[in-house]
Amino acid sequence: MRFHKTLIPTLKEDPVDAQVVSHRLMLRAGLIRPLGSGIYTWLPLGLRVLRKVEAIVRQEMDNAGAQEVLMPAVQPAELWQESGRWDFYGKELLRFTDRHDRPCCFGPTHEEVISDLVRREIRSYRQVPANFYQIQTKFRDEIRPRFGIMRGREFLMKDAYSFDLDAEGLDASYQSMFAAYQRIFQRCGLAFRAVEADTGSIGGASSHEFHVLAESGEDVIISCDQCDYAANLEKAIAAEADAEAGEAAAPLEKVATPGQKSIEEVARFLQLPMDRLIKSLLVETPAGPILLLVRGDRSLNMIKAANALKLPQVTIPDADRAAYWAGVSMGSLGPVESRLPVVADHELRNLRNFVCGANEEGCHLRNVNWQRDLPVPQFADLRNVTAGEPCARCHSGRLQRHQGIEVGHVFKLGDKYSKAMNVKVLDSQGNEQILVMGCYGIGVSRIVAAAIEQNHDANGIRWPRSLAPFQVELILMNPRDSNEAATGEQLYQALQQAGVEVLLDDRDERAGVKFKDADLLGCPMRLLVGGRSFKEGMVELQSRAGDLSQRIPIQDALATLLPLVKGEGHG
Ligand code: ATP
Ligand code: MG
Repeated sequence: MRFHKTLIPTLKEDPVDAQVVSHRLMLRAGLIRPLGSGIYTWLPLGLRVLRKVEAIVRQEMDNAGAQEVLMPAVQPAELWQESGRWDFYGKELLRFTDRHDRPCCFGPTHEEVISDLVRREIRSYRQVPANFYQIQTKFRDEIRPRFGIMRGREFLMKDAYSFDLDAEGLDASYQSMFAAYQRIFQRCGLAFRAVEADTGSIGGASSHEFHVLAESGEDVIISCDQCDYAANLEKAIAAEADAEAGEAAAPLEKVATPGQKSIEEVARFLQLPMDRLIKSLLVETPAGPILLLVRGDRSLNMIKAANALKLPQVTIPDADRAAYWAGVSMGSLGPVESRLPVVADHELRNLRNFVCGANEEGCHLRNVNWQRDLPVPQFADLRNVTAGEPCARCHSGRLQRHQGIEVGHVFKLGDKYSKAMNVKVLDSQGNEQILVMGCYGIGVSRIVAAAIEQNHDANGIRWPRSLAPFQVELILMNPRDSNEAATGEQLYQALQQAGVEVLLDDRDERAGVKFKDADLLGCPMRLLVGGRSFKEGMVELQSRAGDLSQRIPIQDALATLLPLVKGEGHG
């Protein structure tokens, strides 16, 4: 491809509103342009990268035996009403009506559509297992689209759906997708980690997320430094501390804590460590307010809270509303003689002589003990684990925290959709049997951003070889020099004939501008034609990674370069 004939609108300056590196670099390298909030146009170079990711995903899905289909983006509401998700999905679902006033949505995911297809077309146990996938544009009206295409509203996803006769079949389908995902992310040149994920309101079944490790990642993942335990924050647990050999119950006291609102303030005021205090948090649910308790030095995980209460979500009301329900301001709220239902984190089971709000303005209770002072509540997993806690699986390792970008998600759905939508086949005895499903997503466009987050330096992108828009950028330092231009053209043709993807920077620009842009665009290899080297019959070969820089005779350029650009992997 010739630079001067291609739309590659590089920017010298960092765009002001781009917060993460990948967003900045994608704009600066001219890979994408915004059209509106969370919606982007892919320009020629960006699209080349996107297509590379797509090709890897497609190949591995095909190898794993999945069949490619392409489902409609626009979906009739009836299907969503049938599955029960029309009311449940919330504002991320873009809904509209067609000219006949029929409600529709733009698909954020396709469980309903594929279930409808399979119930119509698959009748016999002989036709399963079956796995269908597509690579298609999704729309989710994200509340806060951000970081460019990382969290867009419109994005490209690969979604696959497996159908099996029974749980064993589903296990096999799941394993096969899991292995395909590992190959996909390896081939994309990404450092990633598969973690156990929360299955939310679907419950029971298992789920893993694949995360690309990057500081800018929005998700927290927890892993053990000794065994292979890894989970996202919503799912991660730590080993519970052993019950302490009983501290005797001390007499209950009410203490004045005037003006001490936060846990930190109260702990300092009472000269106690934070882990002797209980944090009382009021959450709002459709059934009314509930009091949740975690240790003073811990934080509540809202997804764990929702799961514990078997609700799709819980919310924290604003201070006024909470105070209205509690009858006291949040800093003095506590579980003793509370009118609210109480759920406490597991960790509090063995806590003795603790401190909590007294439900009286500016007062706390000290030496509180379960049973003696208040009924033993329901216990559940409510809190975030923290780095350094012991691992619940191996008990010898310590938990570590990393930031991750979720690029893939595999999920055993079981019969959630197939039951609601009556997806069944006749088994070998002629009996009807509901199929069990798995679903498997990959954020194809998000991978492009994630790859940049992991592969860049101060000057620009450093593409993994497998995703680079071009393997080689061929730079003509002075295209007005007819000798240079002729040599450049010959090399360009020869490289293309050898099957190398090459970008010829033939622009009438200063060499410095071209070098800067080449750094920004991040092709793994660069071949410079011009300057003193050229007069001496040489070209310069450089790697973007900086580990190679050599002068080679012009006639050897091809032979030297070819082995360096063939094959996939990190470049
Ligand atoms: P997230 O927690 O990041 O919102 P999700 O759990 O909603 O993701 P899934 O429904 O599992 O995501 O979708 C499958 C994949 O699609 C995700 O693993 C992610 O890589 C990608 N994805 C989801 N939402 C977006 C988005 N708004 N922009 C880009 N990619 C996305
Ligand atoms: Mg989401």
